[in-house]
Amino acid sequence: MSDCCAPKNEATAPPVSCPSCHSVGQAVARETVGAMATLSVPATSLCHEHYRYCSTPGCAVVYYSGDTVVLQQSDVRVPVNAKDAGPDVPLCYCFGHTRRTIAEEIAATGQSTAFAAITREVKAGHCACEVKNASGRCCLGEVRAYEKRAAQSHAIDAPAPTASAR
Ligand SMILES: [Zn+2]
Repeated sequence: MSDCCAPKNEATAPPVSCPSCHSVGQAVARETVGAMATLSVPATSLCHEHYRYCSTPGCAVVYYSGDTVVLQQSDVRVPVNAKDAGPDVPLCYCFGHTRRTIAEEIAATGQSTAFAAITREVKAGHCACEVKNASGRCCLGEVRAYEKRAAQSHAIDAPAPTASAR
């Protein structure tokens, strides 16, 4: 696996909690925050050494540094899949696999090839998770988990009548 899958400066970053939800987000490289930030985010918010990424669903904070620097979804160029459950939000930001594309492939063919396709690209060194994925990390864990959920819900949903039938 390439560097994108290695934890970023987790050991050296102080374990600061999210100023909103108070969970400790994972350390994220400044390069990731800079690549994700919209042009309206001031440089003074992007010049710090340590940043963390908050993945808590429902928490408005995406990145923070200490208690004072906070970037929310509106400050970030991409929809953050940890915060946004929409079908067209990417799970794989490098190669454009969304919840919808994965679910549709499973509905059409009974299986998803996304995990295998992404794995091939990662091995070929084509991924850019640190600047494409809001988490700054490899998406493979999330893609695999979603493939399993989507395959199960398809298997359950397909033969069942609609809930309104009494
Ligand atoms: Zn939070």
